[in-house]
Amino acid sequence: MNRKYAKELLLLLGIILFCAIMARHLAGHETLEDYAKLHPSEIPAENASSYATSTGSTVDNAQMSASSSSTGQVNSSVTNSTETPFDIDVYDTRVTYSEGFYYEEIPDSIVSKITDVSYPKDCPFSLDELRYCSVLYVDFDGEEQSGELICNKAIADDIMEIFYELYDNDYQIESIKLVDEFDADDEASMEANNTSCFNYRPIGNGKKLSKHSQGLAIDINPLYNPQIKYKNGATVIAPSGGEKYADRNADFPYKIDKDDLAYKLFKEHGFSWGGNWNSSKDYQHFEKKK
Ligand SMILES: [Zn+2]
Repeated sequence: MNRKYAKELLLLLGIILFCAIMARHLAGHETLEDYAKLHPSEIPAENASSYATSTGSTVDNAQMSASSSSTGQVNSSVTNSTETPFDIDVYDTRVTYSEGFYYEEIPDSIVSKITDVSYPKDCPFSLDELRYCSVLYVDFDGEEQSGELICNKAIADDIMEIFYELYDNDYQIESIKLVDEFDADDEASMEANNTSCFNYRPIGNGKKLSKHSQGLAIDINPLYNPQIKYKNGATVIAPSGGEKYADRNADFPYKIDKDDLAYKLFKEHGFSWGGNWNSSKDYQHFEKKK
């Protein structure tokens, strides 16, 4: 080898060696192996992303951080909720927003409960589109209660954020049960002042499907916030018992109007309100386009 090149090669090797020593020194003598031992919580992200690929889901594998709840913002970053990363059930689809607030793919026990009740066997919408939501709320006695809703997966994050804010502000709701508890009878659920979301049904007795059919609409305290329709000069109010709350200029509790917190929150989240409709009024109803 040419002596001139040998000298330059030696110089190059010297620089590489110097850089390697400096790099190790700057990293606090920490090797990648040391880093892995010190940061075991960062390992499951790989497991989670491989699960996301296998299910085609990009959101449901994520655990929402409870610590973010005070801001009302959903943090969909992957966090490790267990001591060891290997305890994570990769098939668990639960997304937790805060303690008592979570959603997940419809569990088998709920599938059997709703099939042929709110979810007909020939329903054109897949169950994969829906999410089972668990929320906390404050009832009319001021007591904390646990409620359940089924909604479209497109609005599951909205439901978490809105219901957390309502709960946090002591907004009173009388009941939050699946409409299946009322045999999927909307009138019975409304008469019981039950707040609900998914129910595969046409609007009234017509053929057009309600947004509730895809879990994209929700009714809040429906007895106090009735539907008012005008047919052939007659006024039709639903549910039965809601007549005394049809005058929206009157003062009574649980009334949804533009000063109401639920109205403000649903509006902020891009929902439209049935109280703003022209041809009829549906003061309990909020819906969102996918
Ligand atoms: Zn409705």
